[in-house]
Amino acid sequence: MKKKTQLIHGGIFGDQTTGAVSTPIYQVSTYKQEQVGKHKGFEYSRTGNPTRFALEELIKDLESGERGFAFASGMAAITAVMMLFNKGDHIIMTDDVYGGTFRVMTKVLNRFGLEATFVDTSDVNNIKNEIRPETKAIYLETPTNPLLKISDIQAIADLAKASGLLTIVDNTFSTPYWQNPISLGADIVLHSATKYIGGHSDVVAGLVVVNSEQLGQDLHFVQNSTGGVLGPQDSWLLIRGIKTLGIRMEETESNTAQIVEFLQNHPAVSKVFYPGLETHPNHEIAKKQAAGFGGMVSFDVGSAEKADEVFSKLKYFTLAESLGAVESLISIPARMTHASIPQERRAELGITDGLIRISVGLEDAEDLIEDLANALK
Ligand SMILES: *Cc1c(COP(=O)(O)O)cnc(C)c1O
Repeated sequence: MKKKTQLIHGGIFGDQTTGAVSTPIYQVSTYKQEQVGKHKGFEYSRTGNPTRFALEELIKDLESGERGFAFASGMAAITAVMMLFNKGDHIIMTDDVYGGTFRVMTKVLNRFGLEATFVDTSDVNNIKNEIRPETKAIYLETPTNPLLKISDIQAIADLAKASGLLTIVDNTFSTPYWQNPISLGADIVLHSATKYIGGHSDVVAGLVVVNSEQLGQDLHFVQNSTGGVLGPQDSWLLIRGIKTLGIRMEETESNTAQIVEFLQNHPAVSKVFYPGLETHPNHEIAKKQAAGFGGMVSFDVGSAEKADEVFSKLKYFTLAESLGAVESLISIPARMTHASIPQERRAELGITDGLIRISVGLEDAEDLIEDLANALK
């Protein structure tokens, strides 16, 4: 089955009982048992709910895994995955992971004895140097935010296997439409489904897929024990979002390519960060491991003042956190998502005051380019 077909026919198609083509929203907490312990597969909706299950089956298929899980947010998904580990365990992570991931590791889970080291995973050697006896996993985000750095999933998964470690990939930016980390050797793939998978700025959710029955049992135990599950309404919204993920990603790709070309040739833009550019340091790896480069682009306009001027003139790019929706969004990482990072560290990472990040939406590319041209004048 090809990807676009799988988005519509993967998982459980419609409703087995009534023939409804759309998965019903099972707004229910508990289920009648014929006798004690004799039921139709559902007992209590924290443990399992039919609408959530349909979504979990669908994301499992899309990521070619063994079992899927839906959580109340991307952060709930990441936290549940981290609860597979024990006190004293150590995890090596991409240094520019999502801010919330950095925060939960360094301000919450560290209090329970889970330790993380942050390295630039775009070079495999940086990971090798940090492996120690307590290390249990390598956690990657690729591409990263806001500099769109790329890590080689297959090379890192090979290293992890050879060292007896799990490989975990946050696949939010690429989506299962463009990139499938499990097929490249990863053990666990997760998403903030709030972004492209939902795609319409109307739901907060997280998804996880694991590649083995054992990890499936372990993560279901955590999900059921800690309870950060996604409700049936929001599960349904994600199933609906996924049906159009393919056409949304294709259109995003085409809009983004045109915008990147425009930005690259603009005199007011000093640098463009996009994995699709041949000048991107890991362009070849991006091309090898993903079928598309995505809709996230960052570019430098030189100063905070210029960045302010640009976004104040834009009509179609909304200044907002988040990404991956139908509407184009713009953010200034140094003063928004990455404001809590000290300026010196930001400079080291290359997150300058004039850096602008855009999430290209599905408006007409000509309008978007005209808007940018006007703002950069
Ligand atoms: C947004 C985001 C998260 C967190 O997801 P929420 O749904 O906001 O909890 C994690 N990883 C990445 C890459 C994100 O963009």
